[in-house]
Amino acid sequence: MASELIFRGHESQHVSDAYSPKPPKPWLSVTRPIRYMLREQRLVFVFVGIAIASLVFAVLPSSDHHHAQISDSYIPSELIRSQPHRSMYQNGHLSTGFGINSVGKIPLGLKRKGLRIVVTGGAGFVGSHLVDRLISRGDSVIVTNVVGTLNMLGLAKRVGARFLLTSTSEVYGDPLQHPKSKLTGETSIRSKLKKCGLMETGVRSCYDEGKRTAETLTMDYHRGANVEVRIARIFNTYGPRMCIDDGRVVSNFVAQALRKEPLTVYGDGKQTRSFQFVSDLVEGLMRLMEGEHIGPFNLGNPGEFTMLELAQVVQETIDPNAKIEFRPNTEDDPHKRKPDITKAKDLLGWEPKVPLRKGLPMMVSDFRQRIFGDHKEEVTSSA
Ligand code: UDP
Repeated sequence: MASELIFRGHESQHVSDAYSPKPPKPWLSVTRPIRYMLREQRLVFVFVGIAIASLVFAVLPSSDHHHAQISDSYIPSELIRSQPHRSMYQNGHLSTGFGINSVGKIPLGLKRKGLRIVVTGGAGFVGSHLVDRLISRGDSVIVTNVVGTLNMLGLAKRVGARFLLTSTSEVYGDPLQHPKSKLTGETSIRSKLKKCGLMETGVRSCYDEGKRTAETLTMDYHRGANVEVRIARIFNTYGPRMCIDDGRVVSNFVAQALRKEPLTVYGDGKQTRSFQFVSDLVEGLMRLMEGEHIGPFNLGNPGEFTMLELAQVVQETIDPNAKIEFRPNTEDDPHKRKPDITKAKDLLGWEPKVPLRKGLPMMVSDFRQRIFGDHKEEVTSSA
């Protein structure tokens, strides 16, 4: 058996020695494809294909740009001035600005900066102001909460992005003292029980618990998965582009005064809030994102007003004759809210600059325009 195998080997060796292929013709590798192309008008088809492809790429917008639908096109002038590469609004769309003919296109070869992911929730209008500053730099703004936070943390880990969670003052519940940047035991347990519905009411529980969970997830990803994170707790914020009918107190009062309706004050109107203008918040978030401190940072304006005082400021700004109407309040409405911003002052060098009496008129002119349109603005501005 073994000898037979050896014999066959010899035989095959012999056969291969006997084979002598024709010498290769080098010019054939060039002429063959050319002849193939010229046959049956194939070249014409190739040119037509190239023309169609060029047309498609020239007409369709680049898929490499970010844009966001914005409900209106109001941009406060002070925000415009503060933006080095301001985004452009066209027909209610926001896109990165590189000249009118190249709306939304990021020029080839332009390198993106480090990735950033911003997760916000609820305050969609804040997100719309943020996109002004962030999208033009190639960052992402996502409006979401628990599940979205989890998804985005996963994405941040995968792509190595810095992650900003815009949490809320609601995580403090109904505090017994003005919120520092820490949840105190008694305050948080009491409010958690209440907001979860274990104590009588829990009408706002999903938002508050969602944000607490989102903060916990964010810190877990930071500690366990090395994701670079930043956390801000946003206090009551107002400004242009705020949703007109979402029931927040500033938007309610402003819209009511403009429409000549009574201002609805809930409860006795002695509960307090601190109102920050949106551009101050955006500045704080930018500093947080650019800095090295994780937070959580309270971002809000410490100027504290009762709801009756707010109603008075709205009367002074829009209509001194506006009436006040008292309505029952919700049971779990926090009694006071004023941020302690010491940490943000010390570590971010940030503090708000726009007081309520200066910020409110900017919001009013935006609301006036959206409620009445350009035509009626002149008529009502004398009010
Ligand atoms: N509020 C009011 N009238 C309104 C809407 C709200 O007096 O038309 C009160 C509300 O009871 C709360 C405060 O204003 O005490 C702030 O309410 P908002 O919903 O704006 O903010 P948050 O309660 O989330 O801080």
